[in-house]
Amino acid sequence: MYALVTGASRGIGKSITKSLLKESFSVIGTARSSEFPNEFSQHDNFEELYVDLSDPVAVESKVKPIFDREEAPTVLINNAGVFMESGFEKDDETWLEKWDQTMQVNLRAPALVSKWALNRWIKEEGGYLINISSRAAYRGDTQEYSAYAASKGGLVAFTKSVARDFGEHNISAYSIAPGFIKTDMAMDSIDVYGEEYLTEGMAFDEITSPDEVGELVTFLAKGKVPHMTGSTFHINGGSYMI
Ligand code: NAP
Repeated sequence: MYALVTGASRGIGKSITKSLLKESFSVIGTARSSEFPNEFSQHDNFEELYVDLSDPVAVESKVKPIFDREEAPTVLINNAGVFMESGFEKDDETWLEKWDQTMQVNLRAPALVSKWALNRWIKEEGGYLINISSRAAYRGDTQEYSAYAASKGGLVAFTKSVARDFGEHNISAYSIAPGFIKTDMAMDSIDVYGEEYLTEGMAFDEITSPDEVGELVTFLAKGKVPHMTGSTFHINGGSYMI
């Protein structure tokens, strides 16, 4: 079992990678610039790859060749993402700049990497595509983060399209829609509002650990429920239930 995990250095991607390695997967993990934890760098089944997903040239030169290797990953986890603020009061140029950067990292790059994986998998024995979306795809976000919500909604629709058409090639595709997860990305909100406020109305009075997402992704990556293809898995501490 061989997986490619984007954004493996920190947060949810780190938990996913830890869980996959524990289950004897070989993992290629990517990061933009931060160092990988020692437990990964020193692991025989881990390969690190530095690539900035906001740079389309780098994505093509560094990630595409992975799917031309003699042995290529059969699980792709598009996890890396950015959460950029850009309010409607900004001038158009600034607003669009953030919009485009968000779309590039959260939607365009994952879709293109998925395309490379799918074109390899249809020639072989199939594969599993797992896209880390967000609850923002379902309940929106504040207007400052509308690009983020739109990118994550786009990712869900993209995932469903893959699921519809590639099942006959033994390919399943899933979306994960996390709520607040205790990572650097959520830390700004946790610092500003506090954990108590953010968990108000939730079933639990604590913010979800990234390790839970890691366990869920590993379960899907192991091919336990291929017929759940196209589904979105909501992991949000019961903040909403659908
Ligand atoms: P995080 O702690 O900020 O970690 C982000 C990871 O993505 C890091 O490994 C980072 O690499 C990588 N990354 C960021 N920008 C990149 C770029 N331009 N090119 C390449 N890699 C890049 O984020 P997280 O909370 O784990 O989030 C992971 C995913 O879950 C994201 O897609 C996010 O939208 C989604 N999500 C998170 C939450 C939450 O509450 N945390 C909720 C819903 C959805 P470096 O370490 O090198 O910077």
